[in-house]
Formats: sequence, C-alpha cells, structure tokens
Amino acid sequence: MIDMSQLYNHLDYSAALGNFNHSIHERRWLGFRDIHLKVAKYKCPICECSLKQNELLTRSSKDGVTQIKATIDHYRPKDDSLYPRLVYEHTNYLLMCSDCNNAYKGNLFPLHSSTPQRAVSLIDIDAEKPLIVNPITDNLLALFTLVFRYTRSGKKVLELIARSDDAYLKEKAEETIKVFSLGDCEINVHQNRNVQICRINLLNDHFKKFYGFIEARKNKDNGKAIAEIRKYRLRDYGFYEFIIKEQYQNLI
Ligand SMILES: [Zn+2]
Repeated sequence: MIDMSQLYNHLDYSAALGNFNHSIHERRWLGFRDIHLKVAKYKCPICECSLKQNELLTRSSKDGVTQIKATIDHYRPKDDSLYPRLVYEHTNYLLMCSDCNNAYKGNLFPLHSSTPQRAVSLIDIDAEKPLIVNPITDNLLALFTLVFRYTRSGKKVLELIARSDDAYLKEKAEETIKVFSLGDCEINVHQNRNVQICRINLLNDHFKKFYGFIEARKNKDNGKAIAEIRKYRLRDYGFYEFIIKEQYQNLI
C-alpha cells in the first residue's frame, strides 16, 4: 500500500482544488486524478498495480478484455443511504485502480462496532472508526507487515498481514486486506473468477519484483540490491519502505 500522506501538501494540489471549486461539472472530482496519480507514482495506492498508460494491466472479462484504469472515487460512498453530503468533499476522494474501486470496494464502508452511528457530515466523521484503510490519512507502517509466502496452490505471492496489537487497528487492517484481497488471495474467493486470477497474478508479480531485493539485503550484497532497485524501480512502490524498515516476514 502506498503512503499518500503528502497529497494535500503537494504544490499541484491547490491548483487542482481551485479548478474543482470553480467547476460545476457533475463529476468534477475527476479533476483530482492527475495529482493523485503523481503522488502515488502512477500506481494504485491500494494494490500497487501500475496505472501508467503504457503499462496498464489487462485481464479477461465478459467483454473479452478489461483494462485496469485509474479511477477517483469516494472513500465514504456517496450513496443516498451512506454519505450523500460528502459527494463534493475533496478530502473524501481516493485514487484506486478500477478493480480495487469497482470489483472490490464498491459501496462497502464497514465501521468498527464501537462507532456510535454513521456520520452525516464532515463535522462528525472524527467519531467514526472506519474499517477500510485510507492511504492518505492512515499510518500504513503501523497497520501492516509484508509477507512473502506460498499460496495454498503453491504460487509465490507478496501479501499484507495485520501488524497492530490495538484491537481496532488490527481489525481495520484485517478488514481492508479481506475487502481488497491483499492477503490469503486464494482463500478470499471473489465472485468474478477473472478478477481473482488477476489479483493473484499481481501479488505474484510483486513477489517476483521484491524477492531478489530482500535476498540481496539478507546476503549484504549491496551491488545486487541496488541493481534490483533500478531494474524494477522499487522505490516507486509502497512495499519498499516496509522492507527498508525490515517490516516483513519471509516464509519461503
Ligand atoms: Zn488496485
């Protein structure tokens, strides 16, 4: 997962916000896509798939092939039954790939059992305890640990597991991992088999990119580690920070 905490401090953000405030376009939140993409290094902040135009992921679908694209949507869903007053609240927008957004999250917004009631407006959202991680405002390093492991069928994957001892943060991390299938990817069955295969292949691809790097670090082979960083542009990933901080398990 990619730390987006610098988003609102980015110089381009105020320009995007100015355009947004002067627009009457119904879907004016789309104007934030470029700045979110820039801060996310052109990856989905949730699953870290590439969102560069020339590297877009494709997968099989009922229409033949579906291309995974960058979407901006609402962290708290804008549905009438959920958060209709936050439709045009700019801090409620989140970049996600189209699979994380439409095939996984959709209108889900589970809350911790200690939340008294769903917020109505911005004023009372601080009292909520969402169970979906927000990469702009949450401390990702406090929530997750990486794990290099085999799936049940023997595929090598790089997944997330919950890290915190705090009951709420642990549940938040676990629920997020489950919703987006970022852990136990073969056990979390998705109703669309093609979506699930694509997600498993993505986690396998992350494994292939990062495993050489953690091995080089273990062997104190700096030359190899630097070569791996350059070869796969590993610094552009959220995973990189976790590995530098030794926040991972190697179960291979
Ligand atoms: Zn994604």
